Amino acid sequence: MTKLKILFWELTGKCNLNCLHCRSKEDKREELSLAEIEEVAKQLRDFASPLIILSGGEPLLRCDIFKIIYLLSSYNFSIALATNGTLINREIAYKISKSKVKVVSVSLDGATAETHNKIRRNNRAFSLAISGINYLKEAKVKVQINFTIMPDNIREVEEVLSLARNLGVSAVHFFLLVPVGRGRTVAPITSFEYEELLHRILKLKKRATPIAVAGRPISAEEALTIAENANRVRGYGAGRTVWEMAEKFKVDLAEVSWEMLEKIEHKPIVIVRKVC
Ligand code: SF4
Repeated sequence: MTKLKILFWELTGKCNLNCLHCRSKEDKREELSLAEIEEVAKQLRDFASPLIILSGGEPLLRCDIFKIIYLLSSYNFSIALATNGTLINREIAYKISKSKVKVVSVSLDGATAETHNKIRRNNRAFSLAISGINYLKEAKVKVQINFTIMPDNIREVEEVLSLARNLGVSAVHFFLLVPVGRGRTVAPITSFEYEELLHRILKLKKRATPIAVAGRPISAEEALTIAENANRVRGYGAGRTVWEMAEKFKVDLAEVSWEMLEKIEHKPIVIVRKVC
């Protein structure tokens, strides 16, 4: 087995949006049939066992998408789905929740409808993506937001993190624009903007007063509120942060437990015991 960990599989070049920065351009190549997908899966299984991220174009435009998911999971591949979120209604979210899809990443390139819709060149893109995320959450599907940083949205990084917290998504992944396809017409951020952004992100990370949770798990929202209140009252904490713990133990932010913390050297500043 090779160490191939992640495989992005572009199932289609078709999309219902026409974003400013899309690398896919209008890709007219034919799609692989279900039988051809199975042939690739067989070959892949012989040398690797990666997480397969199904993307496009827009993968939900394929009418056989759930057959593809079923097929690939029958070969024991872990599956994730990367979508623009606009086609997800209650029924699709429910079907995803019943499939073997481990996580759905929804692209959001702005914390506001104005920014996102301008980049996505569609007046309903933002509201549809947000309702898609809400349907997924309602169906208890794990969701992450993918945010591609560009000059038009670089000021909304903090806002998108707040939005993500409010929506209850598990993670926000930031990407830098790759200037291919239509993306070649979008100016990339400058090295100065990039550096300034890194400072802002590091500052955000530093805001986390280390917290330990006992009793039962608390939500990410509660954890952040407690950390922020503690910061205000006692100043930033020193030592490890809850983010680092979550990364170390490969769990979500709200799943860091007392037992995990006991396994490593740490200096908790705030201890939360939730009893009801
Ligand atoms: S960036 Fe994604 S959502 Fe936008 S047109 Fe391209 S494939 Fe579609």
